[in-house]
Amino acid sequence: MPVAGNWYLSVPSFPGFPGGRRTRASAAVQGDRPTFVCDMIAIMSDSTFDGVIVGAGFAGLYMLHRLRGLGFSARVYEAGSGVGGTWFWNRYPGARCDVESLEYSYSFSEELEREWQWTERYATQPEILRYLNHVADRFDLKRDIQFDTRVTSAIFDESSNRWNIVTDSGGRASAKFCVMATGCLSTSKVPEYPGIDSFQGKTYHTGHWPHEGVDFTGQRVGVIGTGSSAIQTIPNVANQAAHLFVFQRTPNFSVPAHNAPLASDVDKNWKAHRAEYRQRARTAPFGLLFEQNDKSALEVSREERQRQYEERWGYGGLGMMGAFGDLLFNKEANDTAAEFVRSKIRGIVRDPAVAETLVPRDYPLATKRLCVDTGYYATFNRDNVTLVDTRSTPIEEVTAKGLRTSDAEYELDSIVFATGFDAMTGTLCNMDIRGRAGVTLKQKWSEGPRSYLGVMVAGFPNLFIITGPGSPSVMSNMIVSIEQHVDWIAGCLEYLREHGLATIEATVDAEDAWVAHVNEVANATLFPMANSWYMGANVPGKPRVFLPYIGGVGVYRQKCEEVAAKGYEGFALSACGS
Ligand SMILES: Cc1cc2nc3c(=O)[nH]c(=O)nc-3n(C[C@H](O)[C@H](O)[C@H](O)COP(=O)(O)OP(=O)(O)OC[C@H]3O[C@@H](n4cnc5c(N)ncnc54)[C@H](O)[C@@H]3O)c2cc1C
Repeated sequence: MPVAGNWYLSVPSFPGFPGGRRTRASAAVQGDRPTFVCDMIAIMSDSTFDGVIVGAGFAGLYMLHRLRGLGFSARVYEAGSGVGGTWFWNRYPGARCDVESLEYSYSFSEELEREWQWTERYATQPEILRYLNHVADRFDLKRDIQFDTRVTSAIFDESSNRWNIVTDSGGRASAKFCVMATGCLSTSKVPEYPGIDSFQGKTYHTGHWPHEGVDFTGQRVGVIGTGSSAIQTIPNVANQAAHLFVFQRTPNFSVPAHNAPLASDVDKNWKAHRAEYRQRARTAPFGLLFEQNDKSALEVSREERQRQYEERWGYGGLGMMGAFGDLLFNKEANDTAAEFVRSKIRGIVRDPAVAETLVPRDYPLATKRLCVDTGYYATFNRDNVTLVDTRSTPIEEVTAKGLRTSDAEYELDSIVFATGFDAMTGTLCNMDIRGRAGVTLKQKWSEGPRSYLGVMVAGFPNLFIITGPGSPSVMSNMIVSIEQHVDWIAGCLEYLREHGLATIEATVDAEDAWVAHVNEVANATLFPMANSWYMGANVPGKPRVFLPYIGGVGVYRQKCEEVAAKGYEGFALSACGS
């Protein structure tokens, strides 16, 4: 059946052009015979923009929408073949958000929010991807996005004050400003085991899951890693596989999601009070709406502590972190919550030896990303699941048949790497980004990332990073943080235009002071006690620096607003032609 609607055509790239431009052609239907009225198949010759945005996830899409609204010309480059970012790539079974769907969504458009209906308390990857496609279509964003195109370099030309962008298809573009919407968790990390190429079965990474899905029925599967993605995928793989071996180096704390269909009264209530909820999230410490109890865990009775923890465990989700005000600052207080979760693990897992291996002991609760699961610990009660402790018996090599640890060889048909990401800096440092005097971002960040407010870097004028290191980013509901950064950047660009300014650039002094502040705040918490990806500890050789800003989403927002209100305090601004 012919269908009327919009069709996107794509043409290949030509030397000197930034690549084929997808142009919209309308398909008119006459009877049952379609006549395609192709308006044009335009070769993109306009390689000069006000702004280039790299990435078409939550951040890049909203940035494009805001720039358009302000009348700036913009082009988005996206390595994937569709929008969605995280939700385009991470298609492993069980992938879903662990921030509740109603909160894990854009707030910028009331109409969008009213017309979209989430079906579950925690949306699945396919549903979030549908949502992002809906957003892109609703705001007609795809015509300015060039898919299947990876930006390989972005180089600042000091004579023209412009960024020159080069892509992997040989395309080039020039822009006054460049926005990196490249994501905090978009460069997968695969451990460098010897023999990895010799394996004769199939390998997968949760962050690059095949679009057609994987059927593990009848297979012996090994999952390496027990972080957030692993904890979501393990129960699902166990349902299919003949046998699942879980290779765990560090056990993780996980709390139940208690996922369920989204009740219609919850949805109605949200829509009736959305403005109030959204405003609260913008000023909440983590950008999340769970109730934060400000009391110390140590000032209440044992019974009261137990009641708080039981209530939050029973409700499910990340609210466990808000049970008491000092859980992330006081080890003794944290121990009470950690011990509560440990007792839950021991209560769920029948085999005491397996339970003890799953119990985290050597870092405080929530100082590695707290996981949210559906049936994770109970999965280890299944006969077809074996937990392998690779801390006591390390993986030594990948063999043709499977994995060899220090005491056994495990024969496998498939290996799933749930080994996470080179978080926050990996994607940016993989690009050749050069600021003043040809200094690369990689060089500048060789001893750890430095930024002012986590959004700009001294020596890199007009380069903005959405949710960059030094901003709340992964320590928050990311959508709240993304919208805040995008709005701040949009306001900044408007300011530059109104004041006839050519460039904005963080000063070294402001950057030094911010980095010191980020470290000081982190050091006042328990976070540095964990070898986590927040600290860069999952990537060999990566400097150990606490990457996000833990001072709180509300405090951070206020700081950014004050900086803007004071004419961009801490930034050097240069006039056009200067
Ligand atoms: C499995 C998983 C679950 C998550 N769940 C939650 C959650 O519940 N709550 C929460 O707050 N956060 C969650 N996150 C974090 C999540 O990454 C953010 O919430 C959000 O999706 C980030 O959006 P983004 O647009 O900033 O980045 P991304 O979604 O990562 O998009 C970045 C895009 O940039 C593209 N890109 C990168 N480099 C280049 C290049 N050089 N050239 C062209 N394109 C490039 C990538 O292909 C990617 O599509 C989760 C992350 C993962 C991996």
